[in-house]
Amino acid sequence: MAAYLLDSFAVNFSNKYMSSRYKEPAPIKDLLNPLDSMMERFSEATKILGLDDSTYDALKSPEKSVTVNLSVTMDDGTIKIFEGHRVIHSANLGPSKGGIRFSMGVTLDEVKALAAWMTWKCAVVGIPYGGAKGGIKCDPRTMSAGELERLTRAYTNSMSNVFGPERDIPAPDVGTNPQTMAWIMDEYSKLKGVSSPAVVTGKPIVLGGSNGRIEATGRGVMVSARSAMGKLKMNPSKSTAAVQGFGNVGSISAKLMEEQGVTIVAISDVSGAYFNPNGIDIQDAINFTSKNNGTLEGFTKGEIISNDELLELDVDVLVPAALEDQITAENASRIKAKLIVEGANGPTSSGADKILNDAGIMVIPDILANAGGVSVSYFEWVQNRLGYFWTEERVNRRADRIMKQAFETVYQASRKYKVDMRIAAYIVAIDKVASTKRLRGTY
Ligand code: NAD
Repeated sequence: MAAYLLDSFAVNFSNKYMSSRYKEPAPIKDLLNPLDSMMERFSEATKILGLDDSTYDALKSPEKSVTVNLSVTMDDGTIKIFEGHRVIHSANLGPSKGGIRFSMGVTLDEVKALAAWMTWKCAVVGIPYGGAKGGIKCDPRTMSAGELERLTRAYTNSMSNVFGPERDIPAPDVGTNPQTMAWIMDEYSKLKGVSSPAVVTGKPIVLGGSNGRIEATGRGVMVSARSAMGKLKMNPSKSTAAVQGFGNVGSISAKLMEEQGVTIVAISDVSGAYFNPNGIDIQDAINFTSKNNGTLEGFTKGEIISNDELLELDVDVLVPAALEDQITAENASRIKAKLIVEGANGPTSSGADKILNDAGIMVIPDILANAGGVSVSYFEWVQNRLGYFWTEERVNRRADRIMKQAFETVYQASRKYKVDMRIAAYIVAIDKVASTKRLRGTY
C-alpha cells in the first residue's frame, strides 16, 4: 500500500486538506500526527473506491462550523472570554454525534478533524448518525465546579439552535463528564421548555443515561479481539495479551479479555508498565487502582518495565488504550504481537501501517474497535426517545451484535479490496456516507 504524503508539514490542517487530494506517492515517512494520519487513510480509501472529486471535496470539509465567544463570570468576580466551537462534519446518515472537549489544546482545525473521525466511526458500525465534535479552549483542572457549570450553560445557550435530539447530539470527551452532560441537558430543556434528555448522551443513569455505557468501549474492544482471534484461529485460552493504559477503556478491555480466557501478562498507565508472564489478576489491579487515586503506581504484582517495552513484548494480542501515536514507523518493526486491537483513538501512525501489514500483523482500527462506546450512546438516545429503559443484559447483547456485524463487514471488505482492516473500515464508512449523499442529492 502506497503512502501518500503531504509536501509540507508546516501549513495548518485546514490549508492542507482544503486543496486537492494528494497526487504523488512518496517514500514511507511517519507523519506523527493522528489527524494527518486520518486524512491520509481517508485519501487512500477514496482512491480505491474511485470516489469522484466533488464527493471527495464535500466529504473532506465540514457541513457546518460554529465558533462562539462566551463571557463567563469567574468566582473572583472578573469576566473571562472563552472560545468555543461546534463542528458538524456530516449529517447525511442522521443527526450528528460527537463529544465536547474542554482543553487548552482545542483549536478549530482539531475539532474539524475529530468531527470527521466521528462520521467514519458511526458509519462503520452502521448507526444512523453523522459526525460532529465540539470544544472549548479552557483548562478545566483550574476551574471551580461553579465556573465550569456557567461555562457549560453559556456554551449550550449559544448552541441552542445547533444542538437538538434530531439535529446534533453531544457527549463527553476529554475534560468533560456525565455532570457536564447533565448541565447541557438541563440548560437545553429550560431553553426549549420541554424535558429533552435525548439532546446529549453519556448522562448520569438517574438522568436517563444507559446501563452498560461505562463498560461499552472496553466491551467492544473485547468483542473485536474475539472476532479477530476467530479469523486468525487463535485460541483465547492459549493466548497472551498486553494492554497499554488502565483507565476506562484499558481496564475494562483487560478484564473482559481475561474473562474470555486470555492471559493478560502486562498492563500499564502513566506511572509505568507491569509485566508478569504468569498473568496479572485484572480485578486485583482494578481494586488496587480504585484505592490508589486511580493509578497503578506502586503495584507489586508484576515486574516494572517501560511503556515502550510493553508495546514490544512477545504477546499474541496488543491493546493500545491510552494515547495517540504509540506505534510508529520507529517501533513498528519491533512489535511481536500477531493482533493489535486499537482501544485508543489514533494509537498507530500511518507510517506504521505498512510495516505492520508487511509483517502480517492484523490491526483492528480505532474507528471499528472502539466504536462500542458510540453504539451504546446511540442506545441511550433510543431509550430516551422511547422513554423506556433497557436492562444491561439487553444493551450488551445488542451492542455485541453491532460490533460483530461491523467486524464481519469490514473483514469482507478487506478481502474484496485486498487491503488491511483499517483501509477496509474507511472504505466501508466512506462508501456508505458517499452513497447516502448522492441519494439525498444536492442543489
Ligand atoms: P482514561 O483517562 O480513563 O484512561 C487513560 C489511561 O491511559 C490512564 O490509565 C492513563 O494513566 C494512561 N496513560 C496516560 N499516559 C500514558 C502513557 N504515556 N503510557 C501509558 N499509559 C498512559 O481514558 P479512556 O476513556 O480510557 O480513553 C483512552 C483512549 O480511548 C483515548 O484515546 C480515548 O480517546 C479512547 N476512547 C475512549 C472511549 C470511551 O468511551 N472512554 C471511546 C472511544 C475511544
